[in-house]
Amino acid sequence: MKVLVAVKRVVDYNVKVRVKSDQTGVDIANVKMSMNPFDEIAIEEAVRLKEKGIATEIIAVSCGVTQCQETLRTAMAIGADRAILVESTADLQPLAVAKLLKALIDKEQPGLIILGKQAIDDDCNQTGQMLAALADLPQVTCASKIEVADGKASITREIDGGLETLSVTLPAVMTADLRLNEPRYVTLPNIMKAKKKPMDVIKAENLGVDVTPGIKILKVTEPPKRSAGIKVPDVAALVDKLKNEAKVI
Ligand code: AMP
Repeated sequence: MKVLVAVKRVVDYNVKVRVKSDQTGVDIANVKMSMNPFDEIAIEEAVRLKEKGIATEIIAVSCGVTQCQETLRTAMAIGADRAILVESTADLQPLAVAKLLKALIDKEQPGLIILGKQAIDDDCNQTGQMLAALADLPQVTCASKIEVADGKASITREIDGGLETLSVTLPAVMTADLRLNEPRYVTLPNIMKAKKKPMDVIKAENLGVDVTPGIKILKVTEPPKRSAGIKVPDVAALVDKLKNEAKVI
């Protein structure tokens, strides 16, 4: 079974982003970029499926600028067999990415498509769902466990107060949640090996997809500054403040 995994290049989760002075977005000039953490989990799960003998080939896909090749090399150092960069300098919004991935599904015919549940830069949590709809495939979002057998996947997801386990026929789209696994460390020998793995670069326009943004960001603002805390002299004063000022007890 081929597994296709979508990996997005985003601002590293350790970076404290700054809002641009004209409020059009955040400043990403000279900022460290990395693979979206949920996508690392998605790749790791695909590699585990290959190690179990379930997946036969793992294809990592990224849509965006030339530098996404670095993200794809990381995916291959984790264990993806080959990579596809859908190159575009456009502002690729979730619907555009979903359409591009759908075009690749048509070409590659994977048995399982894994995405992160959400990209930590736009926090959209939309691409997997849109892709499943466009490709007319069953989907399970926020997966915390997957077992594959007999052309079906049994996928567990965390819901309020418990776990829900669903069965889907393959091919299907799954989005990875935090507790699906803990990604392995990328070793130097695997980074070296990844340099030799194949990477195709396809121009987005050659997939016949309209990537024009449908959403316009009106403004981005900083969260309000937190006011300074105070020290209370004793428990009685604390209880009084919680009761009468914060009104939480
Ligand atoms: P989002 O809907 O933007 O929160 O993204 C959800 C998931 O879609 C991500 O975790 C990725 O797996 C995938 N994705 C989004 N944008 C891209 C992109 N430009 N290239 C590859 N995968 C993407």
